[in-house]
Amino acid sequence: MRMTQKMVIIGGGDAGTYTLEAIFKKGAEVLKQFDITLVKKDKGGSASICAVPFALQGVFPMKDVAEIEPPETFIGHGIDYRAETEATSINLENDTVTLSTSEEIKYDYLVIGTGRMPRIPANEGTVLDGVFTMSTVEDGEKIAAAMNAPEAKNAVVLGCGTIGLQVAMAFLKKGLKTTLVSGHPTPLSSCLDPDMGKLVREKVEKEGATFLVGKSVEALKGDGGTVKSVVVEGEEISADIVVISKGMLPNADLAKSAGIEVGETGGIVADQFLHVKKGGEYITNVYALGDCVQVVDAITLRPRLSQYASSALVQAKVVVNNILGISYSLEPALSPAIAAIADLQVGSVGITSTTAERCGINVVSGKKEKPTKARFYPGRKSMAVKLLFDAYSERLIGAQIISEEMVADRIDGLCNAIRMGMTAKELSRMEKSFDPCVSLHRDVMVDAAEKALESL
Ligand SMILES: Cc1cc2nc3c(=O)[nH]c(=O)nc-3n(C[C@H](O)[C@H](O)[C@H](O)COP(=O)(O)OP(=O)(O)OC[C@H]3O[C@@H](n4cnc5c(N)ncnc54)[C@H](O)[C@@H]3O)c2cc1C
Repeated sequence: MRMTQKMVIIGGGDAGTYTLEAIFKKGAEVLKQFDITLVKKDKGGSASICAVPFALQGVFPMKDVAEIEPPETFIGHGIDYRAETEATSINLENDTVTLSTSEEIKYDYLVIGTGRMPRIPANEGTVLDGVFTMSTVEDGEKIAAAMNAPEAKNAVVLGCGTIGLQVAMAFLKKGLKTTLVSGHPTPLSSCLDPDMGKLVREKVEKEGATFLVGKSVEALKGDGGTVKSVVVEGEEISADIVVISKGMLPNADLAKSAGIEVGETGGIVADQFLHVKKGGEYITNVYALGDCVQVVDAITLRPRLSQYASSALVQAKVVVNNILGISYSLEPALSPAIAAIADLQVGSVGITSTTAERCGINVVSGKKEKPTKARFYPGRKSMAVKLLFDAYSERLIGAQIISEEMVADRIDGLCNAIRMGMTAKELSRMEKSFDPCVSLHRDVMVDAAEKALESL
């Protein structure tokens, strides 16, 4: 009879939770083969951090997303589920993890899902009261309390990425004077070209926000320990709330102190099976996944982070299958993403023109903006599509879509098109379904591909 094997999972965010769920999906017989301990620093069960900006916007109560699954759900599956417990060190020679309880647990398999840390600029004002980050449910609860306080009038968001924009929308809905400050000239610069980012900026400006872009923050000033203003290149902006949203760093310190290699992105180095690496060798019983891991970009073939819940979900399948002895590898990442900002759905996949330029890839793009439904159909929305093709191979390498509807499925479809190596010619000849209530006869994506073909 097979002996039970000990699995330790560090982290109870999406990475840790999806790992558990992937094992549960394998069935009770498989689950019985493992004695699993999950340790997580934060309290409670699993949360939906992706939903927190919308709780701030008042779409649903924060309590509905602060705990999607209570610890009892996991305990009910026989998991030794330990919240508010920190893994303080990993010993790869002895296969042990030491906990904040001073306990040492021996493992057969170790899964590291230690997540992210917000990038905080070097500025002493960041420690003032009223200055927040938006990485955990607790952060969301603190921001909610601050924005609902009667004295809250002025909010400043540092950073114009998805999270910054979604939090800014919460402030605008609450009636706060809201300013977004970013060093980049247009919002969402990591996933949109400037011409597409401009559309998002115009929409959020219409909602009442002020953008100070291409500018750097000189100081956060306070009075009596509480933030009062943000100085942006000589201009002082009043601020009762400041949210720092300048990207996320991988939380790889625990792994690093165990001698596990960390790559140029700051993420844990892993092979296609998500085995971690030490001293030039991959360790086949230790895995890393989620926001703490570095993956390979499918277009540039360079290391990148793919800090999405959707990426963690795919990676959890890789980890669990390999632990079960089923060879299952992680494809290089295309990282399709969708973000709801104001009434817009903003989708992207593959690389942007800026990344292409940085990597020496010549790009030809095609862009088109058209209605989502027939011109006589009431309630149709506008949809902007930009497709990027490698000028040499003519293959699709990036896509960006902005509309008030139908973006997610299209982006996922274009993700498959990139994966299949589709060219501008093939996309321009694609058969598309048509019904005037839900689509256009001459499709916007086909038109964008045709536009690119004119320049290829
Ligand atoms: C506001 C916000 C909105 C987002 N929206 C989306 C979205 O719409 N779509 C999408 O795909 N992605 C979204 N993301 C990204 C997505 O949430 C992350 O990619 C995902 O949560 C990563 O999960 P993780 O488990 O790797 O990291 P984390 O959520 O950071 O979890 C890390 C876990 O590790 C624990 N931990 C860390 N160190 C230790 C230690 N030493 N010992 C014990 N435990 C430890 C922490 O307590 C935590 O439980 C969003 C992220 C944020 C912050």
